[in-house]
Amino acid sequence: MIGLISATAAGSAGCRRVASAWPGRTRVYEGPVGDAVRRAFAECEQLVCFLATGAVVRLVAPLLVDKASDPGIVCVDEGGRFAVSLVGGHGGGANELAREVGELLGAEPVVTTATDSVGVPGLDTLGLPVEGDVAGVSRAMLDGEAVALRADVAWPLPPLRVAEAGAYSIRVSDRAVEPAEREVVLRPPSLVVGVGASKGAPVDEVLGLVEDALRDAGLSVKSVAELATVDAKADEPGILGAAERLGVPVVTYGAEELAAVDVPNPSDAPLAAVGTPSVAEAAALLRGGELLVPKRKSAARPAMATCAVVRRPGRGRLAVVGLGPGARDLLTPRAKDELRRASVLVGLDQYVDQIRDLLLPGTRVLESGLGAEEERARTAVAEARLGQAVALIGSGDAGVYAMASPALAEASDDIDVVGVPGVTAALAAGAILGAPLGHDHVSISLSDLHTPWEVIERRVRAAAEADLVVTFYNPRSRGRDWQLPKALTILAGHRKPTTPVGVVRNASRPDESSRVTTLAGLDPATVDMMTVVTVGNTATREIAGRMVTPRGYRWQEDPK
Ligand code: SAH
Repeated sequence: MIGLISATAAGSAGCRRVASAWPGRTRVYEGPVGDAVRRAFAECEQLVCFLATGAVVRLVAPLLVDKASDPGIVCVDEGGRFAVSLVGGHGGGANELAREVGELLGAEPVVTTATDSVGVPGLDTLGLPVEGDVAGVSRAMLDGEAVALRADVAWPLPPLRVAEAGAYSIRVSDRAVEPAEREVVLRPPSLVVGVGASKGAPVDEVLGLVEDALRDAGLSVKSVAELATVDAKADEPGILGAAERLGVPVVTYGAEELAAVDVPNPSDAPLAAVGTPSVAEAAALLRGGELLVPKRKSAARPAMATCAVVRRPGRGRLAVVGLGPGARDLLTPRAKDELRRASVLVGLDQYVDQIRDLLLPGTRVLESGLGAEEERARTAVAEARLGQAVALIGSGDAGVYAMASPALAEASDDIDVVGVPGVTAALAAGAILGAPLGHDHVSISLSDLHTPWEVIERRVRAAAEADLVVTFYNPRSRGRDWQLPKALTILAGHRKPTTPVGVVRNASRPDESSRVTTLAGLDPATVDMMTVVTVGNTATREIAGRMVTPRGYRWQEDPK
């Protein structure tokens, strides 16, 4: 039982939230706090006190006996910002409780035992089914105890800070193993079950066949990633129903594709019915892997379903993550999750510095200086090919004049790629300037390092003629000073000298600056590589110091 104690209105609101979230686990202690704490201490295994740590220390000090039997105590501050594991971090489970309470109340868990190990990923946040002693192993990781990793299947995982041996263990397995004591089993989605079914095959027959096949082969149903079959069976109720009951998607392939797969047990029946000598084996094997269960038929007579099971190789994972323009609160939660999910981080040193504090301890950081783009891209892809979970970072959006294209040009289809969008400089600047991008707009990089100037000039000309709002990236550097004036001259050929121009330097960074000027008034010497320059179209106005491009097209009027 968890005893809940509070003294103030804010504290009792917190108490009520915890009590209503965990009704069977908690008991609220009313009355004078000293008395409430003493009673809870005697009656509960754990306490959550919505009180200052000092008050709780004084109250429980005379009651403490030893760490094996004392309850775990968590304190939550008046503002509900922190959940402090105060006493019994390990034996009393207070570290884990602080994490749980923190999650519930949106408070930061504060754990002071083995400080270096605080940043461990929650085992239930890895996106894989998990069984066994989750609380015990999490607590051991949180306490910096040795936790051994046993992987039957190579699978990309975040840095788990694991040791060669330890009292606790994490097993990564698709086998039907029961977790041992002090062990969790993570279930990677490594199994593909190919299925074939005659028209009208009952759900129970298909599902029973799949479950029997897995059981006889000693495999876990929790590791099934998908059911695979032929296009012609995409709507077969027996297959769809079995997939639904297993909670997995159905993937289908064309008969021709399946016919091209080399299988051990082809036959004439499916060839006549759907145009491929194998459905179950071919669909399971199509994306590669090891055939663990060759084709088998259901026990029903006549058998209406077949299945085969393949273990697909652990695929590396490359996340291409945009960090946004600079400010921490413009980094998306998804980007943050991906940074913590990666065991290898690849990026430009100055961007790595921007997020280093977010990385889990044990993350391998491969940073390099400006100009090493191709090499960074190759490194990231090579690490993913080794089966690692890799994050490749870029500022703003990683796909805009950044790392995504060189990386994906290198990447083959043997790795999974995930893109996380970021707030690109044009948008960050737009929000600062007002509403300059309210109508059609374009971004143009003025860097002629990788693009011939003729090409850039042609695009600037086209944008000028099409009356597009233009945001210039890489507008000017020490060695490249004539391109911006030249580009502005081209635009001035089609727009008035009074056209608003927004200049934003270091958007959302501590030394952010911005101004709205005009085509005639812009001094290119005030622009550098930390800057984006946004030139309005012929309708853009400066209103109250802000740059506003009308939506246009008479959109506010009656369309008829
Ligand atoms: N991937 C980045 C762009 C990289 S190109 C993005 O999506 O934003 C580098 C150029 O982007 C710089 O020369 C500058 O023109 C612009 N830039 C990037 N961050 C910026 C910021 N915070 N403020 C102003 N300009 C920025």
